[in-house]
Amino acid sequence: MPEGDAVLRTAHRLDRALSGQLLARTDFRVPQLATVDLGGQRVESTSTRGKHLLTRIGSDWTLHTHLKMEGSWAILRPRQRWPKAAHLARVVLETDTTHAVGFQLGVVELIPRAEEAAAFAYLGPDLLGPDWDEKEAARRLSDHQDQPIFDALRDQRNLAGLGTMWAAEVCFTMGVHPTTVVAEVPDLTRMLRVARLKLDQAVTRRPPVNAVYGRSRAQCPRCAGPVRRIEMGGPDRLRPAYFCPSCQPERSGSR
Ligand SMILES: [Zn+2]
Repeated sequence: MPEGDAVLRTAHRLDRALSGQLLARTDFRVPQLATVDLGGQRVESTSTRGKHLLTRIGSDWTLHTHLKMEGSWAILRPRQRWPKAAHLARVVLETDTTHAVGFQLGVVELIPRAEEAAAFAYLGPDLLGPDWDEKEAARRLSDHQDQPIFDALRDQRNLAGLGTMWAAEVCFTMGVHPTTVVAEVPDLTRMLRVARLKLDQAVTRRPPVNAVYGRSRAQCPRCAGPVRRIEMGGPDRLRPAYFCPSCQPERSGSR
């Protein structure tokens, strides 16, 4: 699943391609927006709130999209072949020179501009946002003393932008076992700084450098022992947590 860094890169591409341009035609291929036509309106900008993409159209609307598991946006010239099957397209935004096509988007909705701020007020401080607030993020994490840190870091209400990959990488860098409860994490502030640095670097550095994520049974880059994988965050939404058992020892307060 794309995390904050990948979503921000997508926003930059959309922003460069569409901002200031007049939409010649729009096609929203989701039932609730099937009759909406924003042709004739100008695209103002595309930015992010955590993993959410916000494309502001005209003065009245914000198009909210989310990549979820499989989603992507393609920036194409008119008549250029689409990189994915047409039935996977959820949004088409066309200007005279550019066609932006959103495929397999997990969320497609139009939010009245006046309600945009309220719609995302539930999100914690945005790791990649201009208004990143380390103290507030630490405070929100601290409200979940008994929660495993791996789950607390991924909860977008605590801080916005981290997913399964970067939460695992941050825990590895800090030498903290993913099941360690928030109360037992030695230095939350330092952990947040590590998270911000990793995400920030990943915006420009491709491909991201993974020490443990997706490397089950591979050698830990630090101690050469085997990387392990456990399932966390259940029971309904399990996520794989990768870690090194010797570099990230379990604490007595772990779950
Ligand atoms: Zn190790």
